[in-house]
This record gives sequence, C-alpha cells and structure tokens, in this order.
Amino acid sequence: MFPSGQTLPERLEERGVSRRTFVSFCGVMAATLALPAAYRTKIAEALSSVTRPVLIWRQFQDCAGNSESILRSPHPEVAEIVLETLAWNYHELIMAGSGEQAEAMSTQAVRDLKGKYIAVIEGAIPSGDGYCTIGGRSAVDIARDVVGNAAATLAVGACAWDGGLVQHGPTEGQGVQDVVPGANVVNLGGCPHNSANTVAVLVHYLTFGQMPALDQYNRPLFAYGDLIHDQCERRAYYDAGLFVEAWGDEGHRKGYCLYKMGCKGPAATYNCPNVRWNGGTSWPVEAGHNCIGCASPEFWSTMSPFYGRLPNVEGFGADTTAETLGLAVVGATTVAMAAHGVGKAIHSRTVRAHDSSAPAGPEPPPPGSAPTDTVTDSAPTASGGEPPATGGEPPATGGEPPATGGEPAP
Ligand code: SF4
Ligand code: SF4
Repeated sequence: MFPSGQTLPERLEERGVSRRTFVSFCGVMAATLALPAAYRTKIAEALSSVTRPVLIWRQFQDCAGNSESILRSPHPEVAEIVLETLAWNYHELIMAGSGEQAEAMSTQAVRDLKGKYIAVIEGAIPSGDGYCTIGGRSAVDIARDVVGNAAATLAVGACAWDGGLVQHGPTEGQGVQDVVPGANVVNLGGCPHNSANTVAVLVHYLTFGQMPALDQYNRPLFAYGDLIHDQCERRAYYDAGLFVEAWGDEGHRKGYCLYKMGCKGPAATYNCPNVRWNGGTSWPVEAGHNCIGCASPEFWSTMSPFYGRLPNVEGFGADTTAETLGLAVVGATTVAMAAHGVGKAIHSRTVRAHDSSAPAGPEPPPPGSAPTDTVTDSAPTASGGEPPATGGEPPATGGEPPATGGEPAP
C-alpha cells in the first residue's frame, strides 16, 4: 500500500503502466528466480497486496556503484514502482534529509521496527580504529545495529560481501557477515551487483515472506548456481578449440572464445549471461571482453591477474558452489583440461558431476602451454577461509519454492 492509500495496480495505472507490462515483469521475475512460469500470477498477486515494508540502505566504504546499478534497474517502469513498494527510510544518495535528521530516521526505524525491516548494506565496513564515523558513530557500530536488528539483510556488491578491494587497506574493510556474524544475510556479489537479481530477491521476499535458497556463500542459488562457462554463447568456440589469440585479431572479430585472453568463466558462477546488463542489452563477454569473475569470492585476489589464463592446477574453481556437483565440476574440468578435452568433458552437468570419463572433444590448444601471463602460484586460490555456515544443506535449485504462509515485513 502506498502512502496515498493506492494499491500497486492503482499506482501502475496512474503511471501509465499497463497490467500486461506488470504481469510480463512478474514473468521475468519468476524466470530470474528459476520458478515455474505459473508463479508469475502468484508474484503479481503478492505484489498487488503487499503491505509496504521498510528498507534501510546504508553505505560505508564504497563507490556507490551498487546504488547506481539499482537506480538504473532494468524494466524501469515496473521495477521502479516495485521498489517504491518498499519504504526507503534511509538511503543517503536519494533521501531528502541529511545530517542529524537523516540519522534520526535510521535510528528510529531500527528501534521501532526491530526484526521487521530489510537492511541493505553497500560497501565494506571499515573496522580499523578511527575510520568512517557517521554522526559520531563508527561504521561497525551502525552496521551491527542496523543489520543485527533487521529481518534480513542484503549485502550488495563485492565489498559488502567479503570486504572487496579495500579489505587489505588501512581501513581494514570487512564484509557484513564478518562484522555481524550470525545475521540473516544474503550476499549479492558482483562489482557491482546486478540489480535484476537484487530486485528478484526483494520480489521473492515480498511474495513468499522469506529469502530464496542460498549457497555456501549465502548467495542466491538462482543467480549464483551455474558456471558462466555453461551459459556462454561463445562456448561452442571453446568446445571447437577456436580461441581469441590477441585483442583485435580475426578470432576476436569473429567472436571466438576468450579463454586464452584470461576469461574466468570456467571458474565463476553467476547468471550474468542470462540477466545481462543495461536492461538485458548485452554482457561483457558478448561485448568482447573476458569475464574477470567479479561475482566470485574475494575476486580481486582469487581471479587476478584479470588477463592471466586460468591454470589447470589447484585453485581452479575457487568460485564453484559448495554443492558436491560444483566441486565435481572442478575435478572433472581440471582432469579434462589436463587431457586437452575440456569442452566435451563438461558437456552436461550430470556427466560432469558423475562421469569424468566423458568423451573428449576437438583438441583445444593446451591450457597449460605457458602463456606469459598465466595465473600461477598466487591465484586463483582458495577463497580466504571458511565460508559462513548456512544452517545445513541448501534446498535444491529449481525445486518447489518455499511455503507462502510467512508474513512479509510490514
Ligand atoms: S572461456 Fe569465457 S568466453 Fe570462453 S566459453 Fe567460457 S565463459 Fe565463454
Ligand atoms: S562478465 Fe564476469 S566479470 Fe563481467 S560483469 Fe559478468 S560476472 Fe562480472
């Protein structure tokens, strides 16, 4: 319900957004969430009747790229309005208030709506002494207060997830789950996060009253459950052993595989090739640049040098999910690379997971043929320690959605 008393359908009509467009948006959300198409109707019904939850968006050590990403959300005519169904009580980039008035709004919401609001954290949380105080309070203090009292928290972008680029700097930036261990946190990695996924998580919460199924890093499985390599339109070239050898060469012009240019797609999971960017226009690999694995754990360390070819040795697959399947993929892929039969060996997920003797395809150039910029000893490596516990096995992707009886936050 909007402050004016309007329902979402009334609000849409006033903004000139047709019912058809709205239902189409709900279909896109169902598809993004990997739900059956029939859930389009349920999502539409839920969004039409949802009570307006409060959202508190706090930024700490960040570049505001994640705010920019969501403020330029695709499907703008509907997504904007869905985002309006949330009462954005605090977002320093877009709120009218400032200073003590703004801080008072955040503090009051935390106090009055304990356990009922959604928190979004952008940027790393400086934990070093004296860095980043807001209204006289340290970032750590604010984060613990806002996150610790939220119904759920979205950590958007690489820095909020695990400290990102700034974690090794003097501010000792940390991720949300490190500063507030045990909090109900959904990590939306990426640099920046893809707003299509963030909107989908919010839609899931508004529809089902709970967050979607998560992986070992507390990332939504619908977005981070599959290797980029398996979704890439250049995959046929990989399987055929046709690679870009130099920027601007004939293979590059023809759209060949970017593996030899340092593409991290075989080791990174994300739905980037499907949800894409700029309203679904394209994504970096389609545009001709290698994936640098920006949605991977501590990707600045584990996926660099960004133009170094992935090694076929240990460390390959730092971003695979916790699932046995994902780990099996790494094993199968590494073995297959050693045998120069990568493409065919990972032809199907089931085969990859259970049958590393899958037939080898046409022989690509040996991945270990010592390119000068090969990622070697230092990276990729393990993701820097144990991931947070997630409370047991995550539900299978693509399974039944959670029960719908939960009350959305008011
Ligand atoms: S290596 Fe990169 S460009 Fe090549 S198929 Fe895999 S994801 Fe696509
Ligand atoms: S292509 Fe890779 S590095 Fe680029 S945005 Fe997508 S996931 Fe991130």
